[in-house]
Amino acid sequence: MVDQAALVVPSRLIVLAGPTAVGKGTVAACVREYHPEIWISVSVTTRKPRPGEVDGYHYHFIDDDAFDELIASDGLLEWAVVHKAARYGTPRSAVEKALAAGKSALLEIDLQGARQVRRRMPGAFLCFLAPPSFEELVRRLIGRGTEDSAERERRLETAREEMRAESEFDVTIVNTDVRIACEELVDLFSSGSSRL
Ligand code: 5GP
Repeated sequence: MVDQAALVVPSRLIVLAGPTAVGKGTVAACVREYHPEIWISVSVTTRKPRPGEVDGYHYHFIDDDAFDELIASDGLLEWAVVHKAARYGTPRSAVEKALAAGKSALLEIDLQGARQVRRRMPGAFLCFLAPPSFEELVRRLIGRGTEDSAERERRLETAREEMRAESEFDVTIVNTDVRIACEELVDLFSSGSSRL
């Protein structure tokens, strides 16, 4: 008789998504700091850098023409217009290279992107990062203070929609404490997945 447990192979590609301001970036930064063995994708974006953001580290900041070229050459594993404001995408070759090198890979992207990765790489494991409550999410969104009120309203609208998508994901991690959420996420690479 085949032992089903023996067929469980942990995924080496995890997609971290969730509503805006839930703390995906902070959790990913925590993984970067404490788990350098995990490779984290650097996205391309047409958004302008915020103060302190470094090109090639936080994002590859590119213009619309360069983004169009990446789409045309199938250079992106997924891409999306986020908050109706700018385009973001995951460079495909970098992900493939990391996986081919046997690394565990993490993508921190939005929901639309997570859905595309699921279609293109069915073996990826999708993790939903949830806030302790919607009220707490709103507090975090406004507390960050980096967006004007029109932008905040756009992001809230996106967040409401994104919260409804939780059931599409393989697992939910509640981001009450960043360090704990980070360790729960890292644990998924070895234990939480039955996908290839
Ligand atoms: P921010 O502009 O605050 O850095 O990011 C805005 C949103 O874009 C976040 O929800 C983030 O997860 C998402 N994002 C960042 N990189 C990518 C990407 O490569 N693809 C997609 N689809 N979303 C991304």
